[in-house]
Amino acid sequence: MCGIVGYVGPRSAVEILIPGLARLEYRGYDSAGVAFWEEKGIAIIKQAGRIADLERSLARAGVPDARAGIGHTRWATHGVPNTINAHPHRDCTGQVIVVHNGIIENWMELKAELEANGHEFASETDTEVVAHMIEEMPEVALEEAVRLVMKRAEGALALAVMRSSDSQLLVGARRGSPLVVGRGEGENFLGSDIPAFLEHTRKMIVVDDDRVVAIRPESVTVTDLDGNPVEAAERLIEWDLEAAEKGGYATFMEKEIFEQPKAIADTLRGRIGPNGLVRLTEFAEAERRLREIDKVFVVACGTSFHAAMMAKYAIERWTRLPVEIDIASEFRYRDPVLDRRSLVIGISQSGETLDTLAAVRYARAQGSVLVGVSNVVDSALAREADAVLYTRAGPEIGVAATKTFTTQLVALQLIGLHLAQVRGTMDEGTIVNLVQGIRRLPASVEAVLETVPDITELAKELADTRDVFFLGRSGDFPVAMEGALKLKEIAYVRAEGYAAGEMKHGPIALIEPGVLVVGVATDSHVRGKTLSNMAEMKARGATILLVLAEGHRDEALSVADHIVEVPSGPDLIYTVTSVVPLQVLAYQIASARGLDVDKPRNLAKTVTVE
Ligand code: GLU
Repeated sequence: MCGIVGYVGPRSAVEILIPGLARLEYRGYDSAGVAFWEEKGIAIIKQAGRIADLERSLARAGVPDARAGIGHTRWATHGVPNTINAHPHRDCTGQVIVVHNGIIENWMELKAELEANGHEFASETDTEVVAHMIEEMPEVALEEAVRLVMKRAEGALALAVMRSSDSQLLVGARRGSPLVVGRGEGENFLGSDIPAFLEHTRKMIVVDDDRVVAIRPESVTVTDLDGNPVEAAERLIEWDLEAAEKGGYATFMEKEIFEQPKAIADTLRGRIGPNGLVRLTEFAEAERRLREIDKVFVVACGTSFHAAMMAKYAIERWTRLPVEIDIASEFRYRDPVLDRRSLVIGISQSGETLDTLAAVRYARAQGSVLVGVSNVVDSALAREADAVLYTRAGPEIGVAATKTFTTQLVALQLIGLHLAQVRGTMDEGTIVNLVQGIRRLPASVEAVLETVPDITELAKELADTRDVFFLGRSGDFPVAMEGALKLKEIAYVRAEGYAAGEMKHGPIALIEPGVLVVGVATDSHVRGKTLSNMAEMKARGATILLVLAEGHRDEALSVADHIVEVPSGPDLIYTVTSVVPLQVLAYQIASARGLDVDKPRNLAKTVTVE
């Protein structure tokens, strides 16, 4: 995630780029930069921090009078968020300037080739390869050079490129990351998203995947990767600025729920090898120690703790290592038995959660191996850890976690399978099958999102319920816990998540007519047992809503009042799909109750107190 802005036309480019970037700051904001035409060529000004910092630097230097330029707000995926890694990036000569949103999966291979040809790299980013690749083609028209780059680069790319041989040309390209063109009178704009130029024009062209767009003050031409012209339909934007920031969704949380297929696909990028096995280059240095561990601890808080619960089932099943999970605020006060052969995995979206940091620091003091799972590059957790696996969900603005949770699940699945690979605890065929299941997740989550209208109807019907249990077993248990937490957080409904088999040991006394029980029955080896537990709840008068793996409706009809079907796939892996209807349910119940879902009362996004 990041923001790209481009401008070419008669006005002062920098004065258009900076407010455009500010409008995109919600997409990511660890650093920012602009490139613009000067008499002698293209200049770059960039720095770590907020757009306001960049604006101050530009004001100090005197706002340049340029007629074309590109700008970027970065949300780091490769390389720490410092000034050198901030975009724009340039080639060795300073003639080719690039900004990029996304991840170039084969960047290491491309970089090695370019270095062998004598190119020198300034940054740690994947992006910089693009500038050097174009430098290799000085005689080729910029549009064509970008097409050739798009053919070689794998992964997600939205690019904006300038070259000093043509002061009136911006070239954009897109695959997997968003890019739109704004059409003006004698001027044109480029943006990751409509807010970048909404105050200047309402006419836009959406750039499709594998298209290259050449933008001049008077013209916009779109071609496919073979250079064939493509007709690009112009559309009129009817959204106001606020609606445009939310991509037309009512809230950020709703937008983030719908971003999950992409967030999961991004988290997988480059992490599955051609042999179908997991490939985590992030763990290369820690590999020897990972072979030697004899015990795993996973520590986290809130939603991340539910990801830890899933990790326990997965890592134990796949590696046969004992796994303990701990709520981070409890961990260091219970005097856990740790040593150099313990692996401690800390999970925190922000990477700044104080309780989780304190827990991993405690583990560090015992000499344990530390692995971090975080959504923010170079966060405190990342710096503390021996190895870190970043989720690539992009910034999450809604306070209640959605896409950062599902990507955490995926990241932990990759870690579990990686451990199984390095320790040889599962045969490769089985791992390859599980990895194939992980690969299908984006499409399966997409399929669940198609059922949102049905869940919305159901939510309206259930909106007045005040008493809810979420039940599941095995991999469905963390999903039930997370479903209950979502409902508490945003709909303010008292909800309990429980292991389905535990109800009979006490809480079943609370079951009576008017209580809603949400059962999760997707895990194949316990589905029958969960359905029996549901029958016990129904017999005592509860209303039953079942999240069920597809293909089992007949078994469930007698116990369920409502059924939401989700695609089925390998156990534990498909926890990712079964939690999505529960996010939607909580969201729609909160909306039906007229609540501010993006900013639930009493909660903060990042919890940096104990
Ligand atoms: N992968 C690039 C980087 O880390 C782009 C990140 C972004 O989309 O902001 O610099």
